[in-house]
Amino acid sequence: MTAAKKTHRITLIPGDGIGPEVSGAVVKILEAAGAATGVAFDWHPYDAGANAFEKTGEYIPKVLYDSIEKNRVALKGPVTTPIGGGFASINVTLRQKFELFANFRPVKSLPGLKTNYPNIDLVIVRENMEDLYAGLEHEVVPGVVQALKIITEKGSTRIAKFAFDYARKHGRKKIHAIHKANIMKLSDGLFLRCCRTVSEGFPEVAYHEHIVDNTCMQLVMNPYQYDILLTENLYGDILSDLCSAFVGGLGLVPGANLGTECAIFEAVHGSAPDIAGKDMANPTALLQSAVLMLHHIDEPATAERVQAALEQVYREGKTLTKDVGGTSGTKAFADAVMAAMEAPVAA
Ligand code: NAD
Repeated sequence: MTAAKKTHRITLIPGDGIGPEVSGAVVKILEAAGAATGVAFDWHPYDAGANAFEKTGEYIPKVLYDSIEKNRVALKGPVTTPIGGGFASINVTLRQKFELFANFRPVKSLPGLKTNYPNIDLVIVRENMEDLYAGLEHEVVPGVVQALKIITEKGSTRIAKFAFDYARKHGRKKIHAIHKANIMKLSDGLFLRCCRTVSEGFPEVAYHEHIVDNTCMQLVMNPYQYDILLTENLYGDILSDLCSAFVGGLGLVPGANLGTECAIFEAVHGSAPDIAGKDMANPTALLQSAVLMLHHIDEPATAERVQAALEQVYREGKTLTKDVGGTSGTKAFADAVMAAMEAPVAA
């Protein structure tokens, strides 16, 4: 075993529902990968949401905020948000607090996993702080509720710049800005104007605009026409779940919440209460989020080791979870990934 060269301090939010199961699996895999590549992790675990409230009286304890501020990198499991009342979304609150303006969600087919759409490779770049998710709602009079959609020139330009910079850096050819500016002429109109202006500085990246409802149909008919989807907050959230179905579902698709100071890595999926505590959850989405995190903290060798082992398990197809047609549990799947890391990778 190589001696640890570098220790990374990482805030860990296991979350609730399937969160502790998938984050437990991911931490084990990262520990094993790090031991082999000379990378150590100093995990700083904290509760958030209802679990945190029970223990501390706060949904996001101050120590958690402080930890993210200090470590600047967090790995987060899903946290349940009550529907139609209760406390504000922990995710939305953290994104606001740390100005994590970009939500980056790559949707890529895994080798060996058969779906109706082979060889998918598209990226969703979603504005992460504005739109209807600003959470500004009030009851005007009984029976009438108003929700405010916030779109700013600063926020739209910043996310468009992120998407085009990413395209340039990674050789992506096409960006579609997704909108409903035919109806929301001012708000989505402003978003589009900002995207157009930014696109002018990137002549090598083809720029298109699609209306969001048409985009849903176009995606299902032919997702291969898209490369990067550049979206406002709400449309991006919805389209992410739709796109996850191309590659096998929510158990697979990772995400990163990125700002200029901090980053929080989390899967697209939620806390999946229907399968929580049953050793059924697929940890792939959080594991691929952790791979994004490893690249972010500049540990590409560890990232590649994990990704290669994960892909080997899918290629072999013997130890998969139920959501992708297998019969194995979360723990057995994680063990298979660890075993694949130990085994020599086939050329
Ligand atoms: P969900 O993503 O939790 O589940 C949707 C469906 O996908 C369920 O059938 C579930 O079993 C399946 N699924 C999700 N992840 C899976 C995995 N890893 N392996 C296998 N199957 C998986 O969405 P939901 O049911 O709409 O939301 C449940 C809760 O999660 C809500 O409280 C919601 O607010 C919250 N949520 C949290 C986050 C987050 O913390 N980032 C994101 C989305 C939803």
